Amino acid sequence: MKDRYLVFGNPIAHSWSPAIHAIFAREAGLSIEYDRCLVESEFETKVRDFFVRGGKGANVTLPFKEDAMRMVEVLTDRAKMAGAVNTLYMREGRLTGDNTDGKGFVADIRNQFGTLDQATILLIGAGGAARGVIKPLLDDGVASIAIANRTDAKSKLLAAEFATYGNVVSKSLSEVSDDCFDIIVNCTSSSVHNELPGIEPDVFSTARFAYDMYYRNEPTVFMSTALKNNPNLQVSDGLGMLIGQAAESFRIWTGYAPDVSAAMILIKREMFA
Ligand code: NDP
Repeated sequence: MKDRYLVFGNPIAHSWSPAIHAIFAREAGLSIEYDRCLVESEFETKVRDFFVRGGKGANVTLPFKEDAMRMVEVLTDRAKMAGAVNTLYMREGRLTGDNTDGKGFVADIRNQFGTLDQATILLIGAGGAARGVIKPLLDDGVASIAIANRTDAKSKLLAAEFATYGNVVSKSLSEVSDDCFDIIVNCTSSSVHNELPGIEPDVFSTARFAYDMYYRNEPTVFMSTALKNNPNLQVSDGLGMLIGQAAESFRIWTGYAPDVSAAMILIKREMFA
């Protein structure tokens, strides 16, 4: 019988996770089943049922990452730090929750930009995605992280929470263009609505890399505005992060570490088909 995996979320119909894990499984020579589960109610019951029936592992996406964190019996350190769980599995009979988003993000940035050592970072947004990458960025040796968010109170809280781990400060969106950053990351959902996240476009003029965590099959308004203001800038969407976090989940479940770059080529081919 094939090992069974699921991704829980709502909405979930357009999730690329089944396609990504199918590519990983082919590469690893494993026969798996990976499906989507649309959760309209009773998230916890659905998760428990899945594992009682022998499910090997699950991913969790919006809006259940915090519910998943609350229901697990064992929480990894990085999930605790991120305040969210995106990967579930059973370890010694106990439901365990991990978070692989930060690892996927840092791996993608490193792959595209190079070393993060002493880099200065601006994170725009103070939701779950921003929170999940702060500690992995600090662990990778960045010099500083500034956080700016539409709701100032949230970026202030987040910066205060992580200030004990490194140079993490909050800034208001209106003042970020006074500073220079090597890497500017859009961790907001503004691109879902085809909007800029409330920044002045000249913030890009001295940057080297602009990264939008959102992904789709054309450049986001964040990416195109960044390029317009600085034609030498390197830009990227968050597809590499998505594949990177999936690769880390797959490694946890199967012990096999897939080739992220090879999967990226295949997924792009499917996306643009
Ligand atoms: P949350 O709902 O936790 O946070 C949303 C954040 O976006 C908040 O800071 C919110 O500000 C801000 N925001 C929303 N709309 C706007 C807007 N129009 N203008 C300015 N700010 C806005 O979401 P997540 O943190 O989980 O996700 C954020 C983004 O990251 C999404 O686009 C998601 O798709 C992407 N993501 C990508 C991943 C990948 O693998 N590539 C993984 C995880 C997330 P406020 O606090 O003021 O409401």
